[in-house]
Amino acid sequence: MAGNTTRADSKPVPTLNETYNGAPPRLQDEATEKRDKLAAMRTLPKNIQRKRGLQPPPGMTADVFLAAIDELRAELKDTDNTLIQVNGSGIDLVDGWYLDRPATTHDAFHIADPEALVSSASIYPRSTADVQTIVRWANRHLTKSGDRVRGIPLYPISLGRNLGYGGAAPRVPGGVVLDLGRNMHQILDLDGANASCVVEPGVSYFALYEAVQKLNNTKAHHPLWIDTPDLGGGSVLGNAVDRGVGYTPYGDHFGNHCGMEVVLPDGSLLRTGMGALPGPPNGTDNSETDNPAWQSFQHSFGPSIDGLFSQSSMGIVTKMGFQLMPAPPAHQSYCLTFPNEDDFSTIVEVIRPLAQRGVVGNIPQLRHVVQELNITGKPKSLFRGGDTANTSPLTSDEIHAAAKQLPLGDCAWVFYGTQYGTEQSTKDQIAEIEAAFKAVIPGTRLFLPKDVDPSHYLHDRALVCSGVPALRELDWLTWVPNGAHLFFSPIAPTRGKDAETLHNLIKQLHVEYGFDLFPSLCVAGREMHYISNIVYDRGDADAKQRAVRLMRAMIAACAAHGFGEYRTHLLFADQVARTYSWGGQALLKFHETVKDAFDPNGVLAPGRNGVWPRSYRGEGWELGVDDLSLDIIKPKAAKL
Ligand code: ADP
Repeated sequence: MAGNTTRADSKPVPTLNETYNGAPPRLQDEATEKRDKLAAMRTLPKNIQRKRGLQPPPGMTADVFLAAIDELRAELKDTDNTLIQVNGSGIDLVDGWYLDRPATTHDAFHIADPEALVSSASIYPRSTADVQTIVRWANRHLTKSGDRVRGIPLYPISLGRNLGYGGAAPRVPGGVVLDLGRNMHQILDLDGANASCVVEPGVSYFALYEAVQKLNNTKAHHPLWIDTPDLGGGSVLGNAVDRGVGYTPYGDHFGNHCGMEVVLPDGSLLRTGMGALPGPPNGTDNSETDNPAWQSFQHSFGPSIDGLFSQSSMGIVTKMGFQLMPAPPAHQSYCLTFPNEDDFSTIVEVIRPLAQRGVVGNIPQLRHVVQELNITGKPKSLFRGGDTANTSPLTSDEIHAAAKQLPLGDCAWVFYGTQYGTEQSTKDQIAEIEAAFKAVIPGTRLFLPKDVDPSHYLHDRALVCSGVPALRELDWLTWVPNGAHLFFSPIAPTRGKDAETLHNLIKQLHVEYGFDLFPSLCVAGREMHYISNIVYDRGDADAKQRAVRLMRAMIAACAAHGFGEYRTHLLFADQVARTYSWGGQALLKFHETVKDAFDPNGVLAPGRNGVWPRSYRGEGWELGVDDLSLDIIKPKAAKL
């Protein structure tokens, strides 16, 4: 597989004017440069040829599957063959890069054989009605063995840029990927007065940002912000249903949603929130209207069910409402540096009361100084005197020697924050925060964007923390050739002692398995998301195997101390789900009960987040702490 170097693509990256999932024109040059840089560092071939040909859904022969596909094509009236692609021989596995149309054939950031998680077909519905047709079709084509009955497994994605958590790959090899974004990417409503929007799955943060700017330019309403995660190419809807986060006060994406339209696993349609109550009939033709309060009030009447559609396999979300933040009069980003490694727990202790009292304006990020190195976009070898061996992490001496040369100078930790309010109030808040740290951590230093070179990351942080989607975080990937990453994301209380315990566990295991530790802690008043990003070389089988072992070991070790992940890659979801074992696995049992009631044929994303439908349970699909070889994903005791 290794060998021919991929040459840089000479064409500029397409923009949003050309394609729904393109780069905003303002970032076209930066995107093109990043794509070409990553391509130049790729030693794997651009196209990876399949060894195994078409992998149909489990228990189904290729002929039966292809006949079912023909039937669906006819039903969808796909006369020009644009709505379904069968991913068999002749369709190579192309990892592509972040802003390409997502690779719906496999996980572009493969952590095992690229063919481990392949899809059998990709389907591109044009409408909610198409999605319903596809779900009903999946329920009609059943495989049976004993009392097990199951339909065709569908894996819905919006833009599929969930890289580091499984990308656009289905959990069950041979599953059918429903690529909702390709033909469903309209902003259905942008309401300046209510400060809200309704989007289809294929609307990226880039696209929503551009539309909100246009609205703001009309000056008809108070200007609005969107909230964006670190990278702006993801789906607004997809990120929210996966409970992703951003960095303005509206950073809890699922928390700030307001109303969903969902296709259930039997093909029926549901609206959550006030959308469950029809609006008054349209005055002109008496047609149905949306409830006027759908994007105003998140709940409806009776038990709340919205959460059932986040990180779940209970429904396919085809429309989703979000509330948008009124732009504050002023905002100011800054960073504070701290000199010593063991300042860590004190930093956390200082943040807690400041965050609880709302003095800290957003969810700040606390990063180790090693991340000042990788965010330069320079390869690790450069900080190692040109040595390309990647089997050991940079030493503390190497990190500090390199940090000395960078704009923030030598330090151990960097706190990136943003304040919102008036110019005066942001100034006062920053002064209060700086004083609180300086009182207990001698050597604390404050930097504002004006204090650092325009290429410094603080400027990109200032964009993201004011709702301007960016691409800077792609620079991590140039750390090693064929760069890919895998997230490990446990939650801990915002307490110095817990932070230290968690950090030490993770640090020691990174050393053991030979990876640099890149911790970013998103620290709120009561909890912290500890996000460790394992950057590995997709062309290095040993590095991939070590990454798998590291993930397995961290999940187990952290759970033993009470720390659980908020989100994980597809292949680690079973292990994570089973760490939430309180009350004899009461939570998982509840999830399974709901799944069985909603989806008796197990058609919708079987195995997602560790929840297997009845027709898969007991066959050994679950992957646990001992499943270290992930090159072939198959049930351990398959009967079908
Ligand atoms: P992004 O492009 O924002 O990273 P994805 O489209 O990859 O987001 O979505 C993240 C995950 O959320 C997917 O892997 C899938 O499991 C789930 N998901 C995405 N879109 C939907 C949807 N419309 N309905 C149900 N689940 C979805």
